[in-house]
Amino acid sequence: CGIVGYIGKRDAYPIVLNGLKRLEYRGYDSAGIALFDGEDLKVCKTKGKVADLQEKMENEISITGNIGIGHTRWATHGVPNDINSHPHYSNDGNLVIIHNGIIENYDPLKKELTKRGYTFKSDTDTEVLVNLIEDVQKQQDVKLGKAVQIALNQTIGAYAIAVFDKRKPDEIIVARLGSPLAIGIGEDEFFIASDASPFLEFTKNAIYLEDGEMAIVRTHKEIKVRKIHDDSLVDPYVQELQMNLEE
Ligand code: GLU
Repeated sequence: CGIVGYIGKRDAYPIVLNGLKRLEYRGYDSAGIALFDGEDLKVCKTKGKVADLQEKMENEISITGNIGIGHTRWATHGVPNDINSHPHYSNDGNLVIIHNGIIENYDPLKKELTKRGYTFKSDTDTEVLVNLIEDVQKQQDVKLGKAVQIALNQTIGAYAIAVFDKRKPDEIIVARLGSPLAIGIGEDEFFIASDASPFLEFTKNAIYLEDGEMAIVRTHKEIKVRKIHDDSLVDPYVQELQMNLEE
Protein backbone atom coordinates (compact mmCIF):
# COMPACT_ATOMS: atom_id res chain seq x y z
CA CYS A 1 0.00 0.00 0.00
CA GLY A 2 1.18 3.53 -0.58
CA ILE A 3 0.35 7.20 -0.74
CA VAL A 4 1.47 9.96 -3.08
CA GLY A 5 0.62 13.64 -3.25
CA TYR A 6 1.59 16.81 -5.06
CA ILE A 7 0.87 20.50 -4.60
CA GLY A 8 2.48 23.22 -6.69
CA LYS A 9 2.47 24.65 -10.19
CA ARG A 10 2.80 21.48 -12.21
CA ASP A 11 0.13 19.13 -13.43
CA ALA A 12 -0.32 16.76 -10.51
CA TYR A 13 -1.64 13.79 -12.48
CA PRO A 14 1.55 12.38 -14.07
CA ILE A 15 3.49 12.90 -10.84
CA VAL A 16 0.89 11.09 -8.75
CA LEU A 17 0.28 8.33 -11.29
CA ASN A 18 3.98 7.58 -11.83
CA GLY A 19 4.50 7.82 -8.09
CA LEU A 20 1.89 5.12 -7.53
CA LYS A 21 3.68 2.94 -10.07
CA ARG A 22 6.93 3.36 -8.15
CA LEU A 23 5.17 2.25 -4.97
CA GLU A 24 3.59 -0.85 -6.51
CA TYR A 25 6.28 -3.03 -4.92
CA ARG A 26 4.63 -2.36 -1.54
CA GLY A 27 1.65 -4.50 -2.55
CA TYR A 28 -2.00 -3.46 -2.99
CA ASP A 29 -5.44 -4.52 -4.22
CA SER A 30 -6.91 -1.20 -5.43
CA ALA A 31 -5.81 2.26 -6.49
CA GLY A 32 -7.26 5.75 -6.74
CA ILE A 33 -6.46 9.38 -7.42
CA ALA A 34 -8.14 12.71 -6.56
CA LEU A 35 -7.29 15.87 -8.49
CA PHE A 36 -8.48 19.40 -7.91
CA ASP A 37 -8.15 22.18 -10.47
CA GLY A 38 -9.66 24.99 -8.41
CA GLU A 39 -13.19 24.22 -9.57
CA ASP A 40 -13.90 20.54 -9.96
CA LEU A 41 -12.86 17.79 -7.65
CA LYS A 42 -12.17 14.67 -9.65
CA VAL A 43 -11.95 11.32 -7.93
CA CYS A 44 -11.28 8.09 -9.78
CA LYS A 45 -10.68 4.75 -8.10
CA THR A 46 -10.76 1.11 -8.92
CA LYS A 47 -10.09 -2.35 -7.66
CA GLY A 48 -7.08 -3.69 -9.51
CA LYS A 49 -3.82 -2.33 -10.77
CA VAL A 50 -2.49 1.19 -11.24
CA ALA A 51 -2.60 0.46 -14.99
CA ASP A 52 -6.37 -0.17 -14.65
CA LEU A 53 -6.73 3.13 -12.82
CA GLN A 54 -4.81 4.91 -15.56
CA GLU A 55 -7.09 3.50 -18.24
CA LYS A 56 -10.20 4.42 -16.28
CA MET A 57 -8.99 7.94 -15.58
CA GLU A 58 -7.96 8.67 -19.12
CA ASN A 59 -11.38 7.47 -20.36
CA GLU A 60 -13.56 9.05 -17.73
CA ILE A 61 -12.33 12.34 -16.35
CA SER A 62 -10.37 15.38 -17.34
CA ILE A 63 -6.99 14.87 -15.76
CA THR A 64 -5.93 18.35 -14.77
CA GLY A 65 -5.25 19.94 -11.41
CA ASN A 66 -2.31 21.35 -9.48
CA ILE A 67 -3.19 19.46 -6.35
CA GLY A 68 -3.45 15.70 -6.36
CA ILE A 69 -3.34 12.71 -4.06
CA GLY A 70 -3.09 9.04 -4.95
CA HIS A 71 -3.38 5.79 -3.04
CA THR A 72 -2.76 2.12 -3.35
CA ARG A 73 -4.88 0.16 -0.90
CA TRP A 74 -4.27 -2.99 1.01
CA ALA A 75 -7.78 -3.59 2.34
CA THR A 76 -8.21 -4.02 6.09
CA HIS A 77 -11.80 -2.79 6.60
CA GLY A 78 -14.17 -3.54 3.74
CA VAL A 79 -13.53 -5.86 0.81
CA PRO A 80 -11.40 -4.70 -2.12
CA ASN A 81 -13.84 -3.01 -4.50
CA ASP A 82 -14.22 0.35 -6.27
CA ILE A 83 -16.28 1.99 -3.51
CA ASN A 84 -13.95 1.00 -0.69
CA SER A 85 -10.92 2.23 -2.64
CA HIS A 86 -9.41 5.55 -1.64
CA PRO A 87 -9.56 8.57 -1.88
CA HIS A 88 -12.62 9.03 0.33
CA TYR A 89 -14.42 12.30 0.82
CA SER A 90 -16.50 13.73 3.63
CA ASN A 91 -20.29 14.18 3.65
CA ASP A 92 -20.17 17.84 2.61
CA GLY A 93 -17.88 16.90 -0.28
CA ASN A 94 -15.10 19.28 0.71
CA LEU A 95 -12.52 17.08 2.42
CA VAL A 96 -10.61 14.39 0.58
CA ILE A 97 -8.39 11.81 2.28
CA ILE A 98 -6.03 8.95 1.56
CA HIS A 99 -4.93 6.66 4.34
CA ASN A 100 -2.63 3.72 4.86
CA GLY A 101 -3.10 1.92 8.15
CA ILE A 102 -5.99 1.10 10.47
CA ILE A 103 -8.28 3.21 12.66
CA GLU A 104 -8.99 0.61 15.32
CA ASN A 105 -11.78 2.48 17.10
CA TYR A 106 -13.63 3.33 13.88
CA ASP A 107 -16.77 1.51 15.04
CA PRO A 108 -17.74 3.69 18.04
CA LEU A 109 -16.70 6.79 16.07
CA LYS A 110 -18.91 5.70 13.18
CA LYS A 111 -21.88 5.08 15.49
CA GLU A 112 -21.49 8.53 17.01
CA LEU A 113 -21.24 10.21 13.60
CA THR A 114 -24.24 8.21 12.33
CA LYS A 115 -26.28 9.52 15.27
CA ARG A 116 -25.41 13.02 14.16
CA GLY A 117 -26.66 12.37 10.65
CA TYR A 118 -23.50 11.32 8.82
CA THR A 119 -23.87 8.67 6.15
CA PHE A 120 -21.22 6.35 4.75
CA LYS A 121 -20.76 5.03 1.24
CA SER A 122 -17.99 2.56 2.02
CA ASP A 123 -17.18 0.02 4.71
CA THR A 124 -13.80 1.57 5.44
CA ASP A 125 -12.37 2.95 8.66
CA THR A 126 -10.90 5.75 6.55
CA GLU A 127 -14.27 7.22 5.57
CA VAL A 128 -15.04 7.46 9.30
CA LEU A 129 -11.87 9.47 9.85
CA VAL A 130 -12.58 11.98 7.07
CA ASN A 131 -16.08 12.59 8.42
CA LEU A 132 -14.75 12.93 11.95
CA ILE A 133 -12.47 15.69 10.62
CA GLU A 134 -15.44 17.39 8.93
CA ASP A 135 -17.42 17.13 12.16
CA VAL A 136 -14.61 18.72 14.19
CA GLN A 137 -14.34 21.52 11.60
CA LYS A 138 -18.06 22.19 11.89
CA GLN A 139 -18.37 21.87 15.68
CA GLN A 140 -15.27 23.79 16.64
CA ASP A 141 -14.83 26.17 13.73
CA VAL A 142 -11.10 25.50 13.43
CA LYS A 143 -8.73 25.42 10.48
CA LEU A 144 -8.12 22.17 8.64
CA GLY A 145 -4.77 21.41 10.28
CA LYS A 146 -6.25 21.82 13.74
CA ALA A 147 -9.33 19.76 12.83
CA VAL A 148 -7.11 16.92 11.59
CA GLN A 149 -5.08 17.09 14.79
CA ILE A 150 -8.15 17.04 17.06
CA ALA A 151 -9.67 14.16 15.09
CA LEU A 152 -6.45 12.12 15.16
CA ASN A 153 -6.27 12.58 18.92
CA GLN A 154 -9.62 10.77 19.12
CA THR A 155 -8.36 7.78 17.17
CA ILE A 156 -6.51 4.64 18.14
CA GLY A 157 -4.54 2.98 15.40
CA ALA A 158 -1.92 3.51 12.76
CA TYR A 159 -1.81 5.82 9.82
CA ALA A 160 -0.10 7.73 7.12
CA ILE A 161 -2.66 10.20 5.81
CA ALA A 162 -2.93 13.08 3.40
CA VAL A 163 -6.00 15.34 3.47
CA PHE A 164 -7.01 18.45 1.60
CA ASP A 165 -10.01 20.75 1.61
CA LYS A 166 -11.19 21.94 -1.78
CA ARG A 167 -12.19 25.27 -0.25
CA LYS A 168 -8.52 25.81 0.57
CA PRO A 169 -6.55 24.22 -2.23
CA ASP A 170 -3.17 25.68 -1.28
CA GLU A 171 -2.51 23.14 1.45
CA ILE A 172 -2.30 19.44 2.21
CA ILE A 173 -2.23 18.12 5.75
CA VAL A 174 -0.21 14.96 6.35
CA ALA A 175 0.29 12.89 9.48
CA ARG A 176 2.09 9.74 10.43
CA LEU A 177 1.84 7.10 13.13
CA GLY A 178 3.20 3.66 12.32
CA SER A 179 3.22 4.03 8.50
CA PRO A 180 5.99 5.86 6.66
CA LEU A 181 5.62 9.31 5.13
CA ALA A 182 8.18 11.45 3.32
CA ILE A 183 7.77 15.03 2.11
CA GLY A 184 9.81 16.27 -0.84
CA ILE A 185 10.49 19.99 -0.88
CA GLY A 186 10.77 21.69 -4.25
CA GLU A 187 10.62 25.35 -5.21
CA ASP A 188 7.20 26.38 -4.05
CA GLU A 189 5.98 22.86 -4.58
CA PHE A 190 5.78 19.81 -2.36
CA PHE A 191 5.67 16.10 -2.90
CA ILE A 192 4.30 13.54 -0.48
CA ALA A 193 4.94 9.83 -0.60
CA SER A 194 5.39 6.64 1.40
CA ASP A 195 9.05 6.71 0.38
CA ALA A 196 11.16 9.15 -1.62
CA SER A 197 11.11 7.19 -4.90
CA PRO A 198 8.10 9.04 -6.41
CA PHE A 199 9.79 12.44 -6.12
CA LEU A 200 13.54 11.75 -6.42
CA GLU A 201 13.54 13.02 -10.01
CA PHE A 202 12.12 16.39 -8.89
CA THR A 203 13.90 17.19 -5.64
CA LYS A 204 16.65 15.89 -3.41
CA ASN A 205 15.40 17.66 -0.28
CA ALA A 206 13.14 15.65 1.94
CA ILE A 207 11.71 15.50 5.41
CA TYR A 208 10.82 12.11 6.85
CA LEU A 209 8.05 12.58 9.38
CA GLU A 210 8.55 10.75 12.66
CA ASP A 211 5.81 8.75 14.31
CA GLY A 212 3.31 11.05 15.99
CA GLU A 213 4.08 14.04 13.77
CA MET A 214 1.91 15.95 11.35
CA ALA A 215 2.77 18.62 8.80
CA ILE A 216 0.97 21.44 7.10
CA VAL A 217 2.31 21.63 3.57
CA ARG A 218 1.32 24.91 1.98
CA THR A 219 2.43 26.63 -1.20
CA HIS A 220 4.20 30.00 -0.65
CA LYS A 221 4.83 29.04 2.98
CA GLU A 222 7.42 27.29 5.13
CA ILE A 223 6.44 23.79 6.04
CA LYS A 224 5.16 23.45 9.61
CA VAL A 225 5.73 20.22 11.52
CA ARG A 226 4.23 19.56 14.92
CA LYS A 227 3.53 16.75 17.33
CA ILE A 228 -0.01 15.45 17.03
CA HIS A 229 -0.46 14.83 20.75
CA ASP A 230 0.90 17.90 22.49
CA ASP A 231 0.90 20.40 19.61
CA SER A 232 4.58 21.30 20.10
CA LEU A 233 6.36 22.58 17.00
CA VAL A 234 9.15 20.41 15.61
CA ASP A 235 12.13 21.82 13.75
CA PRO A 236 12.15 19.43 10.80
CA TYR A 237 15.40 17.87 9.63
CA VAL A 238 15.71 18.36 5.89
CA GLN A 239 17.78 15.56 4.41
CA GLU A 240 19.66 15.75 1.17
CA LEU A 241 18.90 12.52 -0.66
CA GLN A 242 21.51 10.72 -2.74
CA MET A 243 20.89 10.07 -6.42
CA ASN A 244 20.45 6.35 -6.14
CA LEU A 245 19.04 6.10 -2.70
CA GLU A 246 16.35 3.47 -2.68
CA GLU A 247 14.89 4.01 0.72
N1 GLU B 1 -7.72 0.64 6.58
C1 GLU B 1 -7.85 1.28 5.31
C2 GLU B 1 -8.77 0.49 4.40
O1 GLU B 1 -9.01 -0.64 4.58
C3 GLU B 1 -6.49 1.52 4.62
C4 GLU B 1 -5.80 0.27 4.18
C5 GLU B 1 -4.40 0.53 3.60
O2 GLU B 1 -3.46 0.64 4.39
O3 GLU B 1 -4.27 0.61 2.36
O4 GLU B 1 -9.29 1.03 3.47
